[in-house]
Amino acid sequence: MVITDKITDLGGIGSKRAALYEKLDIFTIGDLLEHYPTGYIDLTESEEIDAVNVNEYHVVEAVLTHKQVPERHHSKLIVYKAVIEDDSGAMSIVFYNNRFALDALEEEKCYRFYGKVAGNFTRREMVNPVVVAADTKRLILPKYHLTKGLTQNMVAAGVTAALDAVKEQIREFIPDEIRSEYRLCSEEYAVNNIHFPENMRAAELSRHRLGFDELFVMQCALRRLRNTNRGECGVRMNAVPLEEFEESLPFELTSAQKRTCNEVYSDMEKASPMNRLVQGDVGSGKTAVAAAACYMCVKNGFQAAFMAPTEILANQHYNTLKAFLEPLSVRVECLTGSLTPAAKRKMKERLAAGEIDVVTGTHALISDSTEFAALGLIITDEQHRFGVEQRKRLAEKGDHPHRLVMSATPIPRTLALIMYGDLDVSVIDELPKGRQRIQTYAVTGRLRERALSFVRQELDKGRQGYIVCPMIEDEEGFTELQAVTDYAQRLQRGILAGYSTAILHGKMTGAEKDSVMADFKAGQIQLLVSTTVVEVGVDVPNATVMLIEDADRFGLSQLHQLRGRVGRGSEQSYCILVTENPTPEVRDRLRIISENSDGFAIAEADLRLRGAGDFFGSRQHGLPPVKIADLAADSTLLKETSDAADSVLRDDPNLDRQPLLRKKTNELTDRIGSEGMN
Ligand code: ADP
Ligand code: MG
Repeated sequence: MVITDKITDLGGIGSKRAALYEKLDIFTIGDLLEHYPTGYIDLTESEEIDAVNVNEYHVVEAVLTHKQVPERHHSKLIVYKAVIEDDSGAMSIVFYNNRFALDALEEEKCYRFYGKVAGNFTRREMVNPVVVAADTKRLILPKYHLTKGLTQNMVAAGVTAALDAVKEQIREFIPDEIRSEYRLCSEEYAVNNIHFPENMRAAELSRHRLGFDELFVMQCALRRLRNTNRGECGVRMNAVPLEEFEESLPFELTSAQKRTCNEVYSDMEKASPMNRLVQGDVGSGKTAVAAAACYMCVKNGFQAAFMAPTEILANQHYNTLKAFLEPLSVRVECLTGSLTPAAKRKMKERLAAGEIDVVTGTHALISDSTEFAALGLIITDEQHRFGVEQRKRLAEKGDHPHRLVMSATPIPRTLALIMYGDLDVSVIDELPKGRQRIQTYAVTGRLRERALSFVRQELDKGRQGYIVCPMIEDEEGFTELQAVTDYAQRLQRGILAGYSTAILHGKMTGAEKDSVMADFKAGQIQLLVSTTVVEVGVDVPNATVMLIEDADRFGLSQLHQLRGRVGRGSEQSYCILVTENPTPEVRDRLRIISENSDGFAIAEADLRLRGAGDFFGSRQHGLPPVKIADLAADSTLLKETSDAADSVLRDDPNLDRQPLLRKKTNELTDRIGSEGMN
């Protein structure tokens, strides 16, 4: 048997049980072995019966002296009891409705029992205990994540069978030097001891080793992928002085923008395509960097395409790029789905003829009929919104063009290393001068009226505002649409009567949303009441106030992103977070966002509070989920595996000397290469 065989090939797992395992994403023997315990029950140390306390969990070693007659309390409850004794005293064990548990035990035999003790001082009983023979070798029992119908014992038996079936095939794949440098136990030891450890230290060593495996293979795969991307020679460009571009700007680039531009320029001079991620907090000025990249590309006789997730963003980028680049004689156009067919056709003809230098647009850019004369650079904004396939299709419209990805999602550096391991990363860690910090306040619902009159004051000053209501899941037929509509109507009948208000929600079509946003941008709408569909990246400098309802329902990073819609001009901006749920935990979270303006610091805090699951649960990034390594806690492991991958690949980039490691990384590369990176 091999690890890719189905679990039904193991004795004891039939099709019915396999269906249960499938619910846990377990199909093969390998999957089962990678169903790592979430914890253990440690029976290695036992106490005397005399010493156990009611309402606590204890382990005792005792002889089962006799089983009692089952007590039938009513048709649904049968109680199975037995008396157990050690030198210090006696107590009962009780199983509710589980006759098999008691049947499995023998009188006069010695066992270890683990469970919660109930009763009172004179009559103690252990309820539904976990029981093992006193002379067993397995005194540490794994606890698995289960699904209804599967028990711990079944999974433990399944894993035991899986280990027996493939134990001969577990091979070491990490080079000896790395193993000794990072003090890793052997693969075989780890695979066995993660499930059935001899002691808790063995469990820890195994967890460490398997976490190392996971991240190490991932880092090797990402590096090799990056190297293959590097190898493909695309478009050749020569250096252009950044100063030429800067002269057309209405402002001076921040030093972080300059540094990023220089990194981009030096990538674009190389013989292999650029693969760079530009990460910058909201408002850090990523578009100017994109424009600089376009400029270099066009100066070299190539075209650039800038793909945005929505029309409103495509139009916004178009306007910005035009303002920056037209003075430099660069021809900029915008291609979106809402153009008339004739206009679209005309624009596509000009693109194919090379009469347009820079095009911004939506998915229309990747339609089959869009062709470029010489595509040299593709830029994607907010990459999480694009399917990988779409980015790939855009890239295929050129000959291995340079690639620039802009992301405002602040990802803790530790995670960025993994998520974007195939990309070089530039971070714009500075906001343009003169930006004022957004004053952020958290209040309870009691102060809502006051908060709303504050919003009104801002509108009276000629500014604009946003009110964000959380998405309401369709509970009791109350829809998101109703929630937003009701809210806006209440405002218009009450405190904000007479102000021009519009609503924006997820059920609107793209064109409807765009038209509302365009009116808002043009200043025709004073207040926008919306769900979270306020597009990330929309730039309306005159908007200075945002009120967020039920702020505790949002993640911190999301709040920070939302808040970034204000504070984009020179005026002081405000964000008011309203919560009806001011628990200490909510207060702490909202305090973090009120006191911090750095998206990275907030993301780190968010990650600490919520765990890495949110970043890795979603699979949006195209990486396989991490099964065992705890990324929030294991930043050392991340660093170590990254160093280890570097050192192995330095001397042996093709892993010729490490065929097993190569096989494992290739398997992973196949997965992320096809879906993840392009
Ligand atoms: P983001 O990084 O969120 O995409 P944008 O590129 O939309 O940010 O820039 C936000 C605003 O800041 C825009 O109005 C832009 O013109 C302005 N801006 C960008 N760079 C600078 C700078 N160096 N100095 C002053 N304003 C800048
Ligand atoms: Mg932007």
